[in-house]
Amino acid sequence: MQLAEDSKSPNTNRAELLEGAAIANQIKQEVARDVERLMAEREVRPSLAAVRVGDDAASAVYVRNKIRACEEVGIRSEHHALPGTTTAGELMDLISSLNTREDVDGILVQLPLPKEIEEAAIIEAIDPDKDVDGFHPVSVGRLSMGRPTFVPCTPAGIIELLERSAIPIAGENACVVGRSQIVGRPIAQLLLQRDATITISHSRTRNLAAVTSQADLLIVAIGRPGFIGREHIKPGATVIDVGMNKVTDEASVRGLFGAEASKRLEIISKRGYTLVGDVNPAEADEVAGRRTPVPGGVGLLTVAMLMRNTIKAARMRRGLVGSNQQSAISNQPE
Ligand code: NAP
Repeated sequence: MQLAEDSKSPNTNRAELLEGAAIANQIKQEVARDVERLMAEREVRPSLAAVRVGDDAASAVYVRNKIRACEEVGIRSEHHALPGTTTAGELMDLISSLNTREDVDGILVQLPLPKEIEEAAIIEAIDPDKDVDGFHPVSVGRLSMGRPTFVPCTPAGIIELLERSAIPIAGENACVVGRSQIVGRPIAQLLLQRDATITISHSRTRNLAAVTSQADLLIVAIGRPGFIGREHIKPGATVIDVGMNKVTDEASVRGLFGAEASKRLEIISKRGYTLVGDVNPAEADEVAGRRTPVPGGVGLLTVAMLMRNTIKAARMRRGLVGSNQQSAISNQPE
């Protein structure tokens, strides 16, 4: 009881923040250099085709950010914004034509698609050599075999964040909360390849806190605002918060941000919502050794890794597998 009271006092142990911005910029600068090199060597500008169907506002923002990142690093981009009435057949036709076009290196289909279109079939239609999202079954299979492939961008970004921040992985107890195809499963594979001992937990896990509180490295991707609290976190652990949730109510914000809620409340009054992760930041600050903020953590790395996958596709398609290239395409520790 005393412990709980003590742990509620603010700033007794302030977790170090692992910010994504500097690392994302570093990766984008590296990609920009690779783009210049490819242009000098082959007179080729790498290119990304982004496909979006319907008028989902969040998807439009995500695609816009990806196109903007392409401009920053010198990748040519094209944006295929199709109406919500587009049929699966029409979308397939577009994918087929992008697959065969020599001047398209990467194909990105922004998810979710309208419910009438089967996402799995569309993803499988993408040429695996242009699968810069890493969602194609060929990419997933190669990743699970530990072979070089396109790695989904968010998990790849988490690995960059950990490695460039010199956070140990080998031999650590890592717990991944969430088992989605885009985050939970691939990050577990990548950590396993780096010799962590992995536990994957999910909504059916019994006594989640007993499992997660053993982890030196806790990766959370569940889509539940502030769900992971002090009881889930081992003292001193590194906590990577992948969640991106819109929160609109002020009481929740006070519970999540404690003494620092006022900035978030201001954001809600201006914009109608604030973005929060799956981890309760005020409680994590009391227990964790390090944690990623939301926003400003993992999210920034996702787009940078998409840029890296695109230059990788451009080089691979031209048979360029120099040492730099190898490190860019590998899902193995470097
Ligand atoms: P998802 O496909 O909805 O999967 C959620 C996973 O969390 C499922 O495996 C689910 O378990 C598990 N889960 C749900 N409630 C749980 C609970 N109470 N306890 C334990 N596990 C629970 O989600 P996702 O696509 O991986 O996304 C997760 C979060 O990350 C979302 O907030 C999303 O917006 C965010 N995200 C951010 C980025 C980025 O760039 N920063 C990228 C991708 C996703 P079951 O399998 O048992 O249902």
